[in-house]
Amino acid sequence: MGDRDHGYTKWGKDWVRFAESLRQTRPDPQLPSARRAVREGKVRITFDDRTVRAVVHRGRGTSVVTIEVAPMSPGATAEISRRLGGGRPLLTDDLYRALADAGHSPAPALAGVACSCAAATPRCVHELAAYYDMARRIDDDPRIALDVQGFLRASAGGGRAPAEATTQRWIALDSLYPAAYFTAVD
Ligand SMILES: [Zn+2]
Repeated sequence: MGDRDHGYTKWGKDWVRFAESLRQTRPDPQLPSARRAVREGKVRITFDDRTVRAVVHRGRGTSVVTIEVAPMSPGATAEISRRLGGGRPLLTDDLYRALADAGHSPAPALAGVACSCAAATPRCVHELAAYYDMARRIDDDPRIALDVQGFLRASAGGGRAPAEATTQRWIALDSLYPAAYFTAVD
């Protein structure tokens, strides 16, 4: 029951897995609707530290999903910093595998999920759409996978990134990675 649209990087696939849990005995019938909402651009995601907020438009209704991502472990944070500091800071599938092999999987864990809708099901279609849209965004830019786990703040010594508009945040993010290149240059 793979999904070709989302999760083609290992970083993105972690978020597809939240929707398509291996523990489920059969696929959730809401999954196609969730994927369609993403394809049709009905999901708008914003970030505030480790909180993902997804506004999902479906039919006439709008629902807001709030996902709280657990902080990355200090071990994984240190391992990623070490590996990014030594070469080109590209978040490839190879890097993902190397981290997992070293016992520091960068896979996220969720601390909490809530939706504003009144669905009686354990997981609503909005929540599933939010996971797929995260996978799509992370496939495009895997740095989101780290940022949403608080990686940059932790690796930068606990300094808090300003929760400004998204573009503003990515500028700050970009300026941080080159710093890893040049620390040894004098
Ligand atoms: Zn919902």
